[in-house]
Amino acid sequence: MCCIIKEIELPQRPFYHAIGNHCLAMDKKLLMAGLGMENSYYDFQADSWRFIVLDTSELGRHNTPGSWEFMEKEELCSSKPLEDFPEMESYNGGVSSKQVAWLRRCLEDAQEKGEKVVVCGHIPLLPESACPAHCVWNFQDLTQLLLSFSCFKAYFGGHFHRGGYTEKEGRHFVTFEAVLDSDNASACGVVEMGDEYITITGFGDMKSHKLNVFEDHAKRQS
Ligand SMILES: [Zn+2]
Repeated sequence: MCCIIKEIELPQRPFYHAIGNHCLAMDKKLLMAGLGMENSYYDFQADSWRFIVLDTSELGRHNTPGSWEFMEKEELCSSKPLEDFPEMESYNGGVSSKQVAWLRRCLEDAQEKGEKVVVCGHIPLLPESACPAHCVWNFQDLTQLLLSFSCFKAYFGGHFHRGGYTEKEGRHFVTFEAVLDSDNASACGVVEMGDEYITITGFGDMKSHKLNVFEDHAKRQS
């Protein structure tokens, strides 16, 4: 952990972390303290863009028995058996109702302020952008919520190492390729946010994308 923090502590560069399943091999409170995270999910602004970072492993096998997260996790898991729902693999995770309510408030605020929104989370939302066994447990509800806001433009995830991309209702769902399985020993990229396009320039195994974010989805849906 200390070695990782040393590597990412570059001067004058903000660092934003999205908690993933492997991060939780250590105690979550220690992890967050080490990375200087006050909350496991948060948002920040840059010009006309709002970035929302989700904790897609909030509900998961690490939850403490008896905690409200544990109860909610148990309820969700019992309502969606793995035999019928491949996303319910234990290496994935879920987003709590408390976090979903917070996400809704963020989206409402961004919509009101005329900002464009990118949502980031470790685990992908749509099976078409990854595979059915590597999605957030409650991805259907989350996707429905995101698509109901015209300010929402794209979701960026990881977790499914081969990566992927799909488009739904003009919005973009990108799963970044992992360096872990890279043949080139590299998979990183630069993302540039414009008014009309998000440009992702990939290096090594990371694919490049040019994503149109200009379309007015409010008009398209009406
Ligand atoms: Zn993962």
